[in-house]
Amino acid sequence: MRVRRLQDKLLAWYARARRDLPWRRTRDPYAIWVSEVMLQQTRTETVLPYYERFLSTYPSVHALAEAPLEDVLRLWSGLGYYRRARMLHAAARDVEVSRGGTLPRTAAELLGIEGIGRYTAGAVASIAWGEAVPVVDGNVARVLSRLFAIDADLHEGTERRLWDIAASLVVPRDPSSWNQALMELGATVCAPRHPRCSSCPLETECDARARGLAEELPRAKKKKAPKLVRRVGFVLWSKGRLWLGRRPEDGLFGGMWEPPHADARDAGAAGRELVAKTRGRVKEAGTVTHLLSHRRIEMTIYAGRAERLLTTELRGHLRDYDALAWLHEEELGQRPLTSLARKVLARATEFTEEEKTRR
Ligand code: SF4
Repeated sequence: MRVRRLQDKLLAWYARARRDLPWRRTRDPYAIWVSEVMLQQTRTETVLPYYERFLSTYPSVHALAEAPLEDVLRLWSGLGYYRRARMLHAAARDVEVSRGGTLPRTAAELLGIEGIGRYTAGAVASIAWGEAVPVVDGNVARVLSRLFAIDADLHEGTERRLWDIAASLVVPRDPSSWNQALMELGATVCAPRHPRCSSCPLETECDARARGLAEELPRAKKKKAPKLVRRVGFVLWSKGRLWLGRRPEDGLFGGMWEPPHADARDAGAAGRELVAKTRGRVKEAGTVTHLLSHRRIEMTIYAGRAERLLTTELRGHLRDYDALAWLHEEELGQRPLTSLARKVLARATEFTEEEKTRR
């Protein structure tokens, strides 16, 4: 009885309160797949413009599979977690080659595609095809752990239990709305820090609410402070071209371009030497801070005009790149740049402007 009440209340709430989002106006499995990949660890508002651009550029599996990875990464620039884009692209190529560009209709078959995990398979199969399979992402895990007062760390062995609970709750007549309703509740009402229980359609069904544990669950290990990583970055110009490096595909920021940077312990002296050798045409241009999930990057930037020959010595310090190239400004827009790269370039531009006003 409780399950039935829960289902009815949540579906009724979803029917009236759901946000009108572009991926909810389609049943195209490809479009739903793209949205689910983009939404992983990323806020809806951030995803919206990327989703629209991506789908108008690559409206089908075929179009995505045909595209060079570098173009795909360029459209993804700024959205972060670039591994998602690389895996989406590889999976589209797999679907194109092995299935003629048609995504399979069941979660089990979707799971057979390299790069599609249980969550994405469940989301695409239930939302696009109406298959009665569960989904558990961060939002759903939080909602379920509160609804059933699961007093445990979500990362320690509770995952299987959550998937079992989610499977027992799926509404067979409308798994699409049900799964989206659970995700929507987690995204808009059952928020991580301050759940809005008095506005929640499941308030009277919720064990955590009844026991006064809503704000405490799910239990989470204390997050480690991000590790401080000091880097030295180089924004160097020569004859109207900017020096950029490309990250190897299988690592952090794989396939993305950026002003090259290196470990500060290793390359700090090289930066200072560059200032001396260019007689001040290259200067220290300030520091940029960038937060990743486990790292806090603090980068000292050296910016200015430098003869290409002078960069030869620097190359020995730049081990994180599989290509280094001097690119025209117009070419910059065609390369995928990380948010960090944009920050570094913006800082260098600001510095140049400041220098002009100082003169
Ligand atoms: Fe979450 Fe509160 Fe609703 Fe329970 S009552 S599901 S804790 S918002």
